[in-house]
Amino acid sequence: MYKINEIFYSLQGEGANTGMPSVFIRFAGCNLRCPFCDTEFEQYTEMSLDAILDAIDEYPSDFIILTGGEPSLQADDALIEALHERDKVVAIETNGTHRLPKDIDWVTVSPKEGSKIVLREADELKVVFTGQDVEPYFSMIDAESYYLQPCSIEKDGVRTDNCAEVIDYCLANPHWSLSLQTHKMLNIQ
Ligand code: SF4
Repeated sequence: MYKINEIFYSLQGEGANTGMPSVFIRFAGCNLRCPFCDTEFEQYTEMSLDAILDAIDEYPSDFIILTGGEPSLQADDALIEALHERDKVVAIETNGTHRLPKDIDWVTVSPKEGSKIVLREADELKVVFTGQDVEPYFSMIDAESYYLQPCSIEKDGVRTDNCAEVIDYCLANPHWSLSLQTHKMLNIQ
């Protein structure tokens, strides 16, 4: 059984696959506690592999995104194999602190400050920029694309972000590109 927070259908909002119609499987639970985390991942329903497959069959896209929480704490070879048997393309969004099941088609590593990264390869690296030194991530992880994402914080009912700071950093360090949370701009899930 897998602890699943939600399964839903939307557009991928971030990174290289922005705009891709995708089925999101959000796993409950995370091994980190980032201060800017805005994901509700504590609640869950226990679902069997068959129940998950039945749920994703409700949607027309073959692009599946395993997210969380931290999906690598639960996603296993049996799930990936079953998805591949159904001709699904499997992507994962991970904080990089835990080994992955084999044969995942698209890996997004989003490392968090102070955590021990065990993954060294990814398709894309995506870092929420809070002004920290991000260059060690660039050296540490071999990826096709490197993204910085603004950090958005809500305080006293007012939401602010550091978009201008991220733009400046990317322009000065062009091995990084800007990634925006377009799903939030579009007000979709
Ligand atoms: S790793 Fe991601 S899901 Fe986990 S606490 Fe940090 S931002 Fe939230």
